[in-house]
Amino acid sequence: MNISELKQNVDLKVSGKEMHEWMLRLYPICRSITGNGVRKTLDILGAYLPLTVREIPSGTPVFDWTVPKEWNIQDAFIKDSRGNRIVDFKASNLCVVGYSSPIHQRMSLEELKPFLHTLPDHPDWIPYRTSYYDDNWGFCVSHRQLMKFKDDEAYDVCIDSVLEDGHLTYGEYNLQGQCSDEVLLSCHICHPSLCNDNLSGIVLLTMLGKLLQQVSLRHSYRFLFIPGTIGSITWLALNEASASKIKYGLVAACVGDAGQITYKRSRQDNAQIDLIVEHVLKESGDPYDIKSFIPYGYDERQYCSPGFNLPVGCLQRTSYGDYPEYHTSADDSDFVRPESLQDSLYKYISVFNIIENNKTLINTNPKCEPQLGKRGLYKAIGGQGETLESQMAMLWTLNLSDGEHSLLEISEKSKIRFDLIKKIADILTAENLLKECS
Ligand code: ZN
Repeated sequence: MNISELKQNVDLKVSGKEMHEWMLRLYPICRSITGNGVRKTLDILGAYLPLTVREIPSGTPVFDWTVPKEWNIQDAFIKDSRGNRIVDFKASNLCVVGYSSPIHQRMSLEELKPFLHTLPDHPDWIPYRTSYYDDNWGFCVSHRQLMKFKDDEAYDVCIDSVLEDGHLTYGEYNLQGQCSDEVLLSCHICHPSLCNDNLSGIVLLTMLGKLLQQVSLRHSYRFLFIPGTIGSITWLALNEASASKIKYGLVAACVGDAGQITYKRSRQDNAQIDLIVEHVLKESGDPYDIKSFIPYGYDERQYCSPGFNLPVGCLQRTSYGDYPEYHTSADDSDFVRPESLQDSLYKYISVFNIIENNKTLINTNPKCEPQLGKRGLYKAIGGQGETLESQMAMLWTLNLSDGEHSLLEISEKSKIRFDLIKKIADILTAENLLKECS
């Protein structure tokens, strides 16, 4: 199967449902930038993709950073004086500040309060907080819950966590194509029970990997399932020589909410990936937004640091920070919809369709138009309800195939959809009216 056939034949509805089911399975796991939650996540994904799991020891220097100690947590709670767990890690892993150091202590509310985080504007939601690089601990609770705490109560506060030398774990999957030019697909796997920010990107890349396995590919595809920031820094530090193979790249995050699709350009601003994604979104007819690069966001920050400046953008739906559910317990499995995952999947496949099929051709008969009628070419494309458009596509493709314009540029200039330009180019190539640039 080739990528065009995949684009036509993939059963998006089934894929959308399947991704949502995977998400539900991954949802309860307590992930962080290191630890067993990441391993368990990669182990589950391993059933769909032959992932290579890499373990990088704590203390490994990675550019200006150091791989941190590994954090694992067994349990955490706040008990009232009657022994009731009023805050319970087993009920929601968001209740513990990520990377909290261990503690077991009896405390008054006054002592405990500085370590409790809430969202007064959304009293039923639990915030998501982390403290990766300073020795701290804390609990996240709903504001409504905090209101029930009593001044005269003694609370039994426990975080049963371990922070010690171990490893940073990430998953990598390489799909070898005909050439070594690479398409990088990256997602972060470091958030606990959060769906749009984290799990949606994970399940989307897993599905894309599963589908692309069946396709004969021109480019090689590299999938990274890494903890945010430190994961991409680590990968880049350990694979600096390979980074130059990356010709296109997308960071997948927040791809499952009901909002419109948003593309954040690479730092280069007009890299091929930027032009391709913009073309796909324009051609889709759906509302979309394009944002310029800013040095804040997900792992594109590292891929687009000036020492790498890779052509990597971020293709998402609603940007982080633009939806109130972001980094709260409300970013749950209802917030991510199968039909939104399905739509994101289709747009990613449409991007790959152009990456795989775009090329620059040369007209072998450039002096005046070739006589198409005598070659039966009008007939070849007739009878498909698109004759006039196909004829125009043929004229545009012949005229602009001067070795300077790619099929994507021809599609842009002619305002004729890429797939039709590609189909016409194949017909003209078969007739020896076009040939590949050498
Ligand atoms: Zn996040």
